[in-house]
Amino acid sequence: MSAKGEAEVLLSIGSNMGDRQANLAFAEERLESCPQISDLKKASIYETEPVGYTDQADFLNTCVSFKTTLSPDELLDLTSGIENDCKRVRTIRWGPRTLDIDIIFYGDEKIDTPRLTIPHPRWQERAFVIVPAKELKDLDVPVPEGSEVRLFRKRI
Ligand code: ADP
Ligand code: MG
Repeated sequence: MSAKGEAEVLLSIGSNMGDRQANLAFAEERLESCPQISDLKKASIYETEPVGYTDQADFLNTCVSFKTTLSPDELLDLTSGIENDCKRVRTIRWGPRTLDIDIIFYGDEKIDTPRLTIPHPRWQERAFVIVPAKELKDLDVPVPEGSEVRLFRKRI
């Protein structure tokens, strides 16, 4: 947390249903228009094979970083609201979704509550998080092998 009470946040955003690029843009615009969010930076967009439940379409994934005065819980309320407004359909765990927004880092805080685990517990296993995240933040972790992460649209 900085002197101004701001935390530096990293989010992972993914979509594999409908107009995937428009869904990512919808999320980014909603975040950018939030008065408690500033300095939003967007990583490139990558096309990735699904992990977990693999019988579904490829995802588009990206990461964004920003500064915020929202608390972690307020941030989760915001990102869940954006997911719901994008008509995310939750049927199969790790299944297809119009929009998935995960909070990867909130400053260097460690949080473990029933609704929130930060850093996100699976980020180090996910090439689709690490590849775009490395464009925004120095991360001393290897990119996991196994799943393909193809550059879809360069932004950085
Ligand atoms: P996944 O992202 O692992 O595919 P979901 O998006 O369906 O799973 O999970 C959503 C739930 O995960 C939310 O209800 C939220 O409370 C919980 N959750 C726990 N930690 C986090 C986090 N760091 N970022 C986002 N959601 C989280
Ligand atoms: Mg999620």
